[in-house]
Amino acid sequence: MKPAIAVVVLLSSLLAVSSAAEKFDFFYLVQQWPGSFCDTRQGCCFPDTGKPAADFGIHGLWPNYAKCGRGRQEELASAVLGEDDVAFLSGVGRRGKCWPEYCDDGNALSPWEIRDLVASLHRDWPTLSCKSGRSFEFWSYEWKKHGTCSNLAQHEYFARALALKARHNLTVILAGAGIVPSDTETYPLSSVRDAIARGTGFTANLECNRDADGNAQLFQVYQCVDREGNKLIDCPLSMPTKCSRDQVKLPVF
Ligand code: 5GP
Repeated sequence: MKPAIAVVVLLSSLLAVSSAAEKFDFFYLVQQWPGSFCDTRQGCCFPDTGKPAADFGIHGLWPNYAKCGRGRQEELASAVLGEDDVAFLSGVGRRGKCWPEYCDDGNALSPWEIRDLVASLHRDWPTLSCKSGRSFEFWSYEWKKHGTCSNLAQHEYFARALALKARHNLTVILAGAGIVPSDTETYPLSSVRDAIARGTGFTANLECNRDADGNAQLFQVYQCVDREGNKLIDCPLSMPTKCSRDQVKLPVF
């Protein structure tokens, strides 16, 4: 084999191996407000278990890097091969990856592994998408895309997300600060941020979306969690909030 071809083969296999052994810095526990998922132009559907409670629901537990970038393998490869070839071989752009995903496609979620959690998952992690109405499909997707990169077994991954949500109930925390679901009231974003920081002890990132009339509303809360999925931490990154206005709604669900 010519040396140049050998280098390409070696680096390609390094890139393939490195993606299976991804490291990450923290998790985002992402929870969605159901009223804000449902009142958009796109709308929502209730799962086959019925209308979920008027409570934040889990969207996912996502491994994340503190800094977007490329792993050592990709840096080494780009020094030898050049940026464009590495982007082509690894699927990682110049800015790099901000999180690992799809780390083990052979590791599909097994209903047996999470059998004792299913009742809690239906309550706390329901799907609102109109795709299938089956929450198990949502959990399977989240496991495949994010959970397989978490270094946690299937049961641990779901049990830890549920435990974190139960320890810091966002709906109760916001209500304690007078931030209650309403179709007329709006709240300063800073008061939402402060209430969550006071109630949980840690800063979170907030994401807004728009209802069908274009009003800004609180959509998702991103809480940062240690690498074991056990404890909240202050978010090492702030994200764009997509909250174009300072006042946001928390619509009735
Ligand atoms: P992610 O944001 O984790 O990359 O992708 C979420 C996927 O789960 C999308 O394909 C979305 O259609 C699907 N999904 C199913 N149910 C829900 C839900 O209740 N909320 C959200 N945000 N996505 C859902």
